[in-house]
Parts: sequence; C-alpha cells; structure tokens
Amino acid sequence: MKNSDFFEKANFQSLIEADGNDRIQEKLNVIDVFLSTEEHITLEEMLRLLRQEGYDFDSGFVKHCLHRMVELGFAQRKQFEGQPIRYEHRHLGRHHDHMVCTKCGKIVEFANEQIERLQTEVAAGYGFHMLQHRMEIYGLCSDCCSKRNPLIPLAMAKPGETVFVREVVGCRHKQGRLASMGLRAGDRVEIINNTGGGRVILGLQNTRLAVGRGMAKRIMVSPVQDIPG
Ligand SMILES: [Zn+2]
Ligand SMILES: [Zn+2]
Ligand SMILES: [Zn+2]
Repeated sequence: MKNSDFFEKANFQSLIEADGNDRIQEKLNVIDVFLSTEEHITLEEMLRLLRQEGYDFDSGFVKHCLHRMVELGFAQRKQFEGQPIRYEHRHLGRHHDHMVCTKCGKIVEFANEQIERLQTEVAAGYGFHMLQHRMEIYGLCSDCCSKRNPLIPLAMAKPGETVFVREVVGCRHKQGRLASMGLRAGDRVEIINNTGGGRVILGLQNTRLAVGRGMAKRIMVSPVQDIPG
C-alpha cells in the first residue's frame, strides 16, 4: 500500500469510527480495494475486485460504502454520457478532467492549466464566480482512430461529428441519388443524430436533413479532422 493510501485509509477510519462502530473492518476492506485501483470503476467492477481479494460483500453494502466515501471526500461519483455511474479517487488539492471514447468507452484523464484559467476568466467576464465545473471531451481515442477507415458509411458516423460527403456506392445514378436528398459530393455535414435503427439526422449549413438507414449505409463519408491553427 502506498504511503498516501495508508494516510487516506487512516483518515477514513477516524471519520467512520466517529459515526459509530458498524462493520468498520469491512468498510476498511472496501476502501483498501478502492484505493488499490486507479480506474474509474462501476459498482459491478468494484464487487469483482473485492471478490478477487476474497471479500464476498453484498452490493447494497458496497454501494453504501462508496456513497460514504463520496460524502466524506475520498471518492467522486462520475457519470459520463452513455455510461454507468463510476467512482474514482478524490485527491485533495488536485483536479483533472476527462476525455471519453464513445466507441470503446475508454476514459482518459487530463489536466491543462490554460483551460482551467480560461474557464475562471470566462466565468468572471459574465460576473460569475465559478465554484466548480465539469469538462468532458467526447470523441474517439487514439486506438479507435487508428483502426478507423478514412472512408466510412454515413451510418457509422458518430453524433457530434463533422464529415465530408464523398459518394454513393452500389447505385447507378450516384449524383442524382445524392441530389435527391439535398446533398452533393464535398458537402460538409454535421451528424446530429444517429441512433442504431432510425434515420440519420444531418445538419447541412442551416438545414436539417433526414437520411434513411439503408441509404446511410451506402453514402460514404470521410471524417473531418479539425486541428486548430
Ligand atoms: Zn478542469
Ligand atoms: Zn476508443
Ligand atoms: Zn478521473
């Protein structure tokens, strides 16, 4: 156990002992296991880690422990879009933000002084005294990007993404087919909605277009990589 973890555990122990003597040792076993991982973990993952260490606690008890750790400032509860509730350490005096891969679910932590300062400045510019903030970047992680084909069917594009329309495949009157949907090769469109079964909703300049799922599988697009200059 790291020195800092040892201190966290002792700190937690003194606070929960003040609450009363209910299952103290078991709660300490839970925080031990929690401190031993650096991941953002779900209740299920926490239960699995505990079982690996030989603890067979029921999920209600573990959930209670996690809530207590959050209340007492040892853990933070996080819910990223499209993901279950997760818990991570709360290190006093240290702050970080997150990038979340919408494909594989990977969570990357980052800290950037300029972003932190800018947020405070922007808030102050509106006469707003910032107490806290949530900064989450959603996208594709480097692994998922490198596995991605440069030309993908529109049906595979992700909401929030900007793509260039390239061509229609498996169709004789290609340009005509695109034009009938209000699209042209080279158009830059934003994916507004693309949820599994239904139509894909696109933003083209100031118009929203709906493309049927079947057609969306045949329109090839290339994702725009915006690198700020
Ligand atoms: Zn931040
Ligand atoms: Zn990924
Ligand atoms: Zn984190």
